[in-house]
Amino acid sequence: MRIEVGVATDIGRVREGNEDSYLVDPPLYAVADGMGGHRGGEVASELALETIESLFREGATTLVEQVREANRAVFARSQADRAVSGMGTTLTAAHVEGGAVRLAHVGDSRAYLLRSGALRQLTDDHTLVNRMVKTGEITESEAEVHPHRNVLTRSLGTEAEVHVDEEQVPLMDGDRVLLCSDGLFGMVTEDQIQAILEAEPAPQRVADRLIKAANRAGGVDNITVIVLDAHDGVDDATAVDAGDADLTPGERVLRENAPTIRRWIAGAVVAVVLLAGSLVALRAYVDRQWYVGVADGKVAIYQGIPATPLGYELHSVAEVTEIDATAAQALTLYAALPEGISANSRDDATAIVAQIRTDLASVKPPKKASTP
Ligand code: MN
Repeated sequence: MRIEVGVATDIGRVREGNEDSYLVDPPLYAVADGMGGHRGGEVASELALETIESLFREGATTLVEQVREANRAVFARSQADRAVSGMGTTLTAAHVEGGAVRLAHVGDSRAYLLRSGALRQLTDDHTLVNRMVKTGEITESEAEVHPHRNVLTRSLGTEAEVHVDEEQVPLMDGDRVLLCSDGLFGMVTEDQIQAILEAEPAPQRVADRLIKAANRAGGVDNITVIVLDAHDGVDDATAVDAGDADLTPGERVLRENAPTIRRWIAGAVVAVVLLAGSLVALRAYVDRQWYVGVADGKVAIYQGIPATPLGYELHSVAEVTEIDATAAQALTLYAALPEGISANSRDDATAIVAQIRTDLASVKPPKKASTP
């Protein structure tokens, strides 16, 4: 197989920084969408890709083991550095070899295959809403607009060990594989994605058009796409034409991202507002904010923001539940409880609490990680 590559990443139209990263190091390709306060998101996505790349270069292990090792690297950094504690990332990696693509995947970035006029998702989203769709709690169309559609059930770097999905798909001449972050399919329907994939012969132009479409639809998140075209040919890894993406064979391209301003920085902004004496505006802002946190060891709903600039408490407890906070924090999804899980409204906060209750009820006694 000869592979032709198109690649593009974009900050989008809303975010302050790009926490997505990508790796194009033929025959290895990957997309990672980082998350976490401070610079955590970009650190996590870059570190994950750097790790699989260097392990791939050493050539000793399988792709899945490389991703597991990337998990350990991100987790270790997160434990060691307070500034990025709790960070994590998605990772969808593709290794093209021997006429097939091998995928390793954690999180909610996606791999698609366009073949003979049909677009098929090759990966499974590790999200709360996907789990709810599978158990029949909500429909797919409800999932698309669900307020917690971004909540991950599995991510890389947030626990000591992670389960990695793997799949191998034999490639055929004319196949087009798309790796992308949720900034694409969160904004653009699969029909639109397919239409763009089918309209453009050149993979780099496809990549550029996908980014444009996501931005035109609002661009509320960072967008990253890698387009891989499979052609019959002898050279597996070396015959790569990256279009005008300026990639040479064997060259590693890892996008360095701009700084990210995250929620806790809102605390600093609030402090400035406070100093300026705009107390009324501040109060109005704070009163519209909600989050789920911990009060007296129990899960609680707060009004305000989890910050205390200049000693001013900018939050108050609205409701204390009966749910034990330590038990809830033990679930990966809710590890951030002590820092506060933000909600769009009081109803949203109540829904998060209900989800915590449901998840705790369904949780089995904790088992020890058995993977070495
Ligand atoms: Mn994203």
